[in-house]
Amino acid sequence: MKKHLQALIETACAAGVSDARLISPQRLVVQEKFVEYCLTPKCRNYGLSAGCPPHVAGPQQFRRWREEAVHALVVRLDVPAKLLFTPKRIDVFRKLHRSVATVELQAAGMAYPCSRGFAGGSCKDIFCRDNKECLQLSSQGVCRNPLEARPSLSGFGVDVGKMMAAAGWSDAIPAVETTMEESVSWVAGLVLLSRKKDGYLRGPAGSEEVLSFRRRAPCLKI
Ligand code: SF4
Repeated sequence: MKKHLQALIETACAAGVSDARLISPQRLVVQEKFVEYCLTPKCRNYGLSAGCPPHVAGPQQFRRWREEAVHALVVRLDVPAKLLFTPKRIDVFRKLHRSVATVELQAAGMAYPCSRGFAGGSCKDIFCRDNKECLQLSSQGVCRNPLEARPSLSGFGVDVGKMMAAAGWSDAIPAVETTMEESVSWVAGLVLLSRKKDGYLRGPAGSEEVLSFRRRAPCLKI
């Protein structure tokens, strides 16, 4: 494996994920029905942030990004299953978002200037739960957390089960509320590593703040 790809995997693990693997982007399966699950039954966060449907670009755009991507870096964060049904799940998802964003920004400063990170859960719930509204969706400004929050995989119709299997984790158990106390489950994220420059701005819906941050951060080599 090339050194810079190994470095990205190490960055993901240093950021707190349990494992990270590279797969071919073509192995990512996208289906509209996963987006429909956000609406029926309606998720309580539906429509509340720029990182969730109907405000994300959705499956059609994801398929275009998948075509452009050179690699897909899949991350998995193992957690006690029961934790995902308690308020502490917010800490788990926050760590997932931050890990994905960290890898995306590092990749953007290397050979993949148009990399895109995707996480899980609603960034409104995870980062802005004490705020009345998503700042990006309001007329007041841009995302409050462009260096951390990333859009949800489900909003783009990504089949997370198949993504996990493609990464070699088909034995990983999805969390259900009835799981045993000691069961270990996971949450997953993805970074599409892409060289194509198409004006994409990072953050849940794209943000000038990220670009401005990267201009101030010489280590990111923009
Ligand atoms: S993290 Fe950004 S996109 Fe998400 S709810 Fe907050 S302001 Fe909106």
